[in-house]
Amino acid sequence: MQQPPFKPESLMMSYGYKPEWSEGAIKCPIFQTSTFVFRSAEEGKAYFELAYGLREPNEGEAPGLIYSRLNNPDLEILENRLCLWDGAEECAVFESGMSAISTAMLAYLQPGDVLLYSSPVYGGTAHFITEVLTRFGIRIQAFRPGESTADILERARTEGWGDNLAMVHLETPANPTNALVDIAAMRRLADQLGEPGRRVRISVDNTYMGPLWQHPLKHGADLVLYSATKYIGGHSDVIAGACLGSREAMQPIKALRTFLGNMAGPWTGWLLMRSLETLKVRMEQQCRNAQEVATFLTGHPAVEEVSYLGLLTPEDGLQYRIYKAQCAAPGAMLSLRVRGGEQEAFAFLNALKLVKLAVSLGSTESLAQHPASMTHIGVPQEERLRIGITDNLVRLSVGVEHVNDLIWDLEQALNAVSRLQSVS
Ligand SMILES: *Cc1c(COP(=O)(O)O)cnc(C)c1O
Repeated sequence: MQQPPFKPESLMMSYGYKPEWSEGAIKCPIFQTSTFVFRSAEEGKAYFELAYGLREPNEGEAPGLIYSRLNNPDLEILENRLCLWDGAEECAVFESGMSAISTAMLAYLQPGDVLLYSSPVYGGTAHFITEVLTRFGIRIQAFRPGESTADILERARTEGWGDNLAMVHLETPANPTNALVDIAAMRRLADQLGEPGRRVRISVDNTYMGPLWQHPLKHGADLVLYSATKYIGGHSDVIAGACLGSREAMQPIKALRTFLGNMAGPWTGWLLMRSLETLKVRMEQQCRNAQEVATFLTGHPAVEEVSYLGLLTPEDGLQYRIYKAQCAAPGAMLSLRVRGGEQEAFAFLNALKLVKLAVSLGSTESLAQHPASMTHIGVPQEERLRIGITDNLVRLSVGVEHVNDLIWDLEQALNAVSRLQSVS
């Protein structure tokens, strides 16, 4: 019988690793080594020639292991496995999500170039764009999800920055509002502003959807970025990042990573490989729980509004259509507005018993936080309100706990808010 193409979840335990490399060990060991021994001087020379791109590889010749800043088995095997989920040719793993994002931007932006980005973006990304890139003469332009590509194009032409557009960075769904940006429409916009020989690169921070629920490369993105700290790591015990794309798109990023030296270490690589074995079961359970939690929350009198992709209906118009075209599932991130303001939001957060009060997301345990005073405190208040980050907004990342326990916890915490409201 012919072997079918195995699905990524079937390959996460073994792909890219051969037990005979390591005394028959079924699992890839941690290659805790800084450097690798060459069998001969000729072999060392050949490895360096390939690493520096001084010649094309001969028939069947693969890049050799040289030094762990350039390559290491734990990283290479992990990168090969990550490629399977997004259908990417090449992946680079970093020691944090921020190092993946900053390296991708530095690899593609020169002084005088324009970076167009969706706003809001992750706070660390926003700071890097507005405070760091601008110091190197890179010009920046923000747009809001919901702004039409025709309007952005018009703006680019009348304001005269269209010809200098080098990169578009998107975060969709946006954190913490879940607003969606149409990646395919942004691809058409980028192609209209680019020229043959000057491709405008599109990077998508796909952290919120993880490698399971949205595949930006299939919608025209050049690069997909992850904070692997979130779903990919998934256990709140490691910081890491990843960038994926075609071999051609990844080449300058891999080269820059070698010289910035911000690759992940072998121990991080090993932890992420272990996490990838359960990626799909974790994420699917989180998504099922989130759908039930969202439905419960919409019915509670202390809740004013819930935003969750799984609650979108055809009445939501464009947002619904983008969701249907772009996302495979609604994910496990939701936000709710409790009736009241900061006081009520804090009463809710302080009353939680099972759900932990912490930033971060995509982990096995459920996490809640208050964007206005925590992750988005750096956004000026006027801007915060414009993008919907009100004082009564709470963000929830749903974990793998029993859904009845989660709902019990949320309900008793919301009842604490109701009691507060009846007192005042
Ligand atoms: C956490 C996060 C990042 C930053 O990742 P680190 O691993 O913390 O460096 C970037 N983007 C999004 C959407 C995130 O949630």
